Amino acid sequence: MYSHRPALILALTQLACRPPDVTKASAKAGSEAVSRKETAPSTEPTVSHYDGPTQVVLLGTGTPVDDPERQGPATAIVVNDTSYLVDMGSGVVRQASRAERLGIVGLATERLDRVFVTHLHSDHTVGFADLLLSPWVMGRRQALEVFGPPGIAEMSENLHQAYAADIEKRTSGMETLEPIGATINVHEISVSGRVYEDSQVKVDAISVLHGSWAHAYGYRFETDDRTVVVSGDTSASNAIARACNGCDVLVHEVYWSPGLASLRSPDVTAYHQAHHTSGADLGKLATKAKPKLLVLTHQLFTGADHEPLLREIRRHYDGPVVSGNDLDVF
Ligand SMILES: [Zn+2]
Ligand SMILES: [Zn+2]
Repeated sequence: MYSHRPALILALTQLACRPPDVTKASAKAGSEAVSRKETAPSTEPTVSHYDGPTQVVLLGTGTPVDDPERQGPATAIVVNDTSYLVDMGSGVVRQASRAERLGIVGLATERLDRVFVTHLHSDHTVGFADLLLSPWVMGRRQALEVFGPPGIAEMSENLHQAYAADIEKRTSGMETLEPIGATINVHEISVSGRVYEDSQVKVDAISVLHGSWAHAYGYRFETDDRTVVVSGDTSASNAIARACNGCDVLVHEVYWSPGLASLRSPDVTAYHQAHHTSGADLGKLATKAKPKLLVLTHQLFTGADHEPLLREIRRHYDGPVVSGNDLDVF
């Protein structure tokens, strides 16, 4: 059961986030500055004292690096008891379940029923099967609504096909799940602008530049109490700064520049400079965007810790900034 709803929006993007080719990069560069141990030391999750109905939960702040301390990219905007996910990286469902156990009811597994995908890189989509099937098995009784760039429909169709045997067994054998819960309603986005609206939230897609992807997006969520912008993977983007324009929370990707320099591998460095956002560029962007809080995610630490990365940003930005960890709530 799969349906493809026509495109709502368009993108103008390019560029790609090659998985932090870090192992290869290190080998090439003869450097151990970046390796699979690419994590910043873990700390206790930050729980904000904000008590309005809209919360931002970092489900996964990682990259393609197989760092057990940082799950794959996924962020949740939770409004009252409803969750709106951005991306579905590795571990997305179990991280949501952990957040529910920390008291965020909207992230209960069976309530995970809508996701906004920034782009189709595997680190942002590898949890798709989990998000489709686990909440269904745990009780979701409606379709999964998936918004994303062109190509997400084909991915959805293929994914549904890949699990056809499981779905058939669970709906017609001794298990009696309703097929609707394993249905995907896919909404391809091909232009910037409003992609979704309900009584609690308005969601706009923002076209960003990310490697050779023709379409990649950030998303802006406007609720009664807050405006939240999530950058997705992107080089520094005026469109993101404009979309924020004093927003409450800007969740942005970033890399630590000196770490890339240490790779001594010109192509990897050039790749990241063209496709992602350095701490320095993010500082300049935040100065223009003026978020009430800047939250770093998808950090490419390249051997550093939170503090050096924050220092790079603060050289260009004197507003509030936090380097995020998994399960931080803002
Ligand atoms: Zn990417
Ligand atoms: Zn990525």
